[in-house]
Amino acid sequence: MPELPEVEVLVRHLAPLLHDRTIRAVLVRRAKVLAPTSARSFAQVLRGARFGSLARRGKYLVFELRKSGRREPLPLVGHLGMTGRMYLLPARTPLPTHTAVVLHLGCENFVFEDTRYFGRLTLDTSALDRLGPEPLGERFTMARFSRALGRSRQAIKVKLLDQSLLAGVGNIYASETLYRARIAPTLPALKLTTPQAKRLWHAVRAVLREAIACGSTVPLYYAGRGLRDGLFYFGRAPGAPDFYAERLRVYDRAGRPCRQCGTLIRRRVQAARSTFYCPRCQRG
Ligand SMILES: [Zn+2]
Repeated sequence: MPELPEVEVLVRHLAPLLHDRTIRAVLVRRAKVLAPTSARSFAQVLRGARFGSLARRGKYLVFELRKSGRREPLPLVGHLGMTGRMYLLPARTPLPTHTAVVLHLGCENFVFEDTRYFGRLTLDTSALDRLGPEPLGERFTMARFSRALGRSRQAIKVKLLDQSLLAGVGNIYASETLYRARIAPTLPALKLTTPQAKRLWHAVRAVLREAIACGSTVPLYYAGRGLRDGLFYFGRAPGAPDFYAERLRVYDRAGRPCRQCGTLIRRRVQAARSTFYCPRCQRG
């Protein structure tokens, strides 16, 4: 499931490809992903609009469009959900089965494909209002982070997934961050000592930065259906080397030795999600 680094890499990939392109026509195959925008107003508003900047906010893609006769830029908000993919496809290529939305750009189509339809592509921006600071941004200060942790009895792993605390960290990077900071995932947030909170603040930034750098240089997600077809792709393509999994220290490594101490990595369920940790390195 894509988190902040994957979305950041996708945004950097798509931004220059979409810039200045005009939406000639709109095809909605799954109106669910537009909610609460209706298919009719979605098509009406976007037809004739031109792509401007593209930015990331948490796990959201924020497309800014321009339309003649409109002074204000038009925001379009995307979220990949569990299985969403967004990419450009030559106009003559048949659309994939799980295509949710197509924006026709002339000789190419911008395709939003989602096998489970948990993703979003909508004109509604309210989800962005609920997001906390960007972990790599200036507003995410150590003082603010420590204060927020001090007010929560939730296990620190669960708290890290709270998008109002910091935006963009999901299940994978929460486990990776706690391992790096050597903190037990079950420790209540308010029990963290000041040195632990500091380590965690540094760790989350380092883990995300590394993942972005890695995603920008490793072509793994640009492979689809077993081929390097140039499409941004989540999930491992059959036969593709799994650089991504090799890079993770604890996530999905239950029963395998910790790279630091050799103890077997454990998995436990917290708030219905898997947590991976080293019981020896993460005793604090
Ligand atoms: Zn260990």
